[in-house]
Formats: sequence, structure tokens, C-alpha cells
Amino acid sequence: MVTVPALCEKPHDAVRCKRLTDRHGRRITDLRISITDRCSYKCVYCRTGNDGAVYAELPIAEYLRIARVFVALGIEKIRLTGGEPLLRRELPELLRELSALRTLDGEPLDLALTTNGHLLEEMAPRLRDAGLSRITVSMDAVDAEKFARITRVPGSYQRVLSGIRAAKRAGLDPVKVNCVLLRGFNEDQIVPFARFSREEDVIVRFIEFMPLEEDRLWTPESVVSLREITSALNGFRPLVSLAPNTASETAVRYTFDDGVGEIGIIAPVTQAFCGHCSRVRLTSDGKIRTCLFSQSDHDLYGVLERGGSDDDLAVFIRRTVEQKEARHHIGEPDFLKPSRSMVHIGG
Ligand code: SF4
Repeated sequence: MVTVPALCEKPHDAVRCKRLTDRHGRRITDLRISITDRCSYKCVYCRTGNDGAVYAELPIAEYLRIARVFVALGIEKIRLTGGEPLLRRELPELLRELSALRTLDGEPLDLALTTNGHLLEEMAPRLRDAGLSRITVSMDAVDAEKFARITRVPGSYQRVLSGIRAAKRAGLDPVKVNCVLLRGFNEDQIVPFARFSREEDVIVRFIEFMPLEEDRLWTPESVVSLREITSALNGFRPLVSLAPNTASETAVRYTFDDGVGEIGIIAPVTQAFCGHCSRVRLTSDGKIRTCLFSQSDHDLYGVLERGGSDDDLAVFIRRTVEQKEARHHIGEPDFLKPSRSMVHIGG
């Protein structure tokens, strides 16, 4: 157990007990944990499927121990990602343990999960029973043939659609659907997804394509920008802006003039939100990534493997987070692709 003094006692040690903050003064409250980099899909904007890079995945108990240390340092939200997290059989057990944790303010953790939805139809009730309250499903087309071309898995559309409906029946709310827009692949899906949001009562979020793929597919021209997306949506029905849910929310939120449906646009390329970034990531092999576009990993699991205590882990985390990058440099002359691709980082 980490020795962190109680926060509100006076006088308190402002250095020892301050919550995780980076050198730019940003509070770090969100941790994304990738629990595997295996995936059942080979989405064209993510995996070439032949990079040959294979990383390890840790025993579930190790993610839990690391999560506990992060929570004791001020983490309030944990998102489980991958690869495809539903491929880990012990996922419900991990969710159960995480949902029992409390933040430094004594509140339940905000638990979230991102999945490709392929196994969701059968897993949704178990995830709900294990303590998950909401879920995000990646889906890049509402056209079965187009979706199969993007995922490179036949029949994937029907599986994911059934998974989304099963998640709603199981009481996971909200169900968010993330669509990465890629020019030449699925920019014609913007209006169909607007209808989908209204008909299925799910929150649809469009994401600008980022240079995180294994292949060299990304160019500035391949990005479908926030401005293009809103223009297409306004052509369908007038958009109405919604206030952000939190200061560090990455999506720009909208509904339509009749209040039916909700759309979010995550625009890291044309409308970066690094200034209020509150996230750090743990990769499936136990490395800290302070930014999606980091050029380096920080081997937290190495500390644990060498017999480090929870306090040793806390010191390593605090030092690493302090070094967090100010922002990404996408589109700038000195931009370097990150040292890992998305499937090996986790969303
Ligand atoms: S690019 Fe890095 S700093 Fe910017 S929002 Fe993403 S993780 Fe945060």
C-alpha cells in the first residue's frame, strides 16, 4: 500500500501529497490501461496485420496493483483498452476489483472501456454485473460491406450492431460509438451515422484520423476535419452545440435542432485539446506513455519485476508524469511518428 498522507489534514505536506500533476500544471486524473495488444480485427487505419511486433500482456493482478497505486496518487477515471480487451477472460474479475476502489475523495472510480464490439453481445451482462456502467464501441461504418472492408473481418457489422443493442439492453449507459473518419474510406458515413445515433439512441463520436497506424497511410489530406464533419451534419439537420461534460472532455458535443441524437467530434489534428490533457497510458506490457505521441516508454513494470514496493512504483509514476509532453506536433515539420502504433498503445 502506498504511504500517501491524508490530503485535508492541516498542515499537510504540499509536495508529498499533491495529486499527480505534470510540469505544465495539468492535473492527471485519467489513466488508460491496455490489457492486451491482441485484437480480433485488422482495421486499415490501425493495423497492417504484418508488422510482426508482439508485446507482452501482464497477469491481470499486476494491472490491478498498478491501478491501485495510480488511484492513491489522484487518478479518478480508468479506461480499459487494447487491442481488444474483451479477449482477456479475466476482464470481469478486473472490473469487479476496480469498481471496489475509491478515489482520494472517497468517490467510486469512473470506469470505462473501449471495445471493437465483436464479443459484446455475449459479454454485455457480465460486464454490467462486474461494475461497468458505460461502454465505448469502435465502429467505422453503418454499411456492412464497407465495415467489413475496414475491419478486414467478414460479418463484423452485424456482430457489432448486435453487441451495441445488447449493451443497451444490459443497462450500459451511455453507449458511445467511435468512428474514425478516413478520406477515401468512410467519409460518406457521416450522415448515416447521424441517423444511427437518433435511431439507436447512442452517442456517435467522429474522430479525426491520427498518424498512429502501423502502415504509412496517414497524410494531412487523409484527415476529414471537424469543419467538414459539421458541414455535412448541418446539411442533414441543423446542429445545436452542447456544453462539455468535463473540462478535459476531448469531444466537441452537439445535438440536432429537435434534440434527438448526440454527436461528438474529437479533432486532435485540426482542433488540438492538449492544453487541458489529463491522461496518461499504461501499455499492455506495463510501460507508461505520457502522451499518445511520445517518442519513449517508461518501464514501470520493470520496477515491479525488480521487487519494487508500492512506494517505489509511486515515486516512479510521479517522476514520469512530471515529464509529460506539452502537446503533439502533428503536421509540423519536426513531427515524428510515435515509437508505437495505436494497437500497441491502447486508445
Ligand atoms: S496528444 Fe498527448 S498531450 Fe495531446 S491530448 Fe493527446 S495525449 Fe494529451
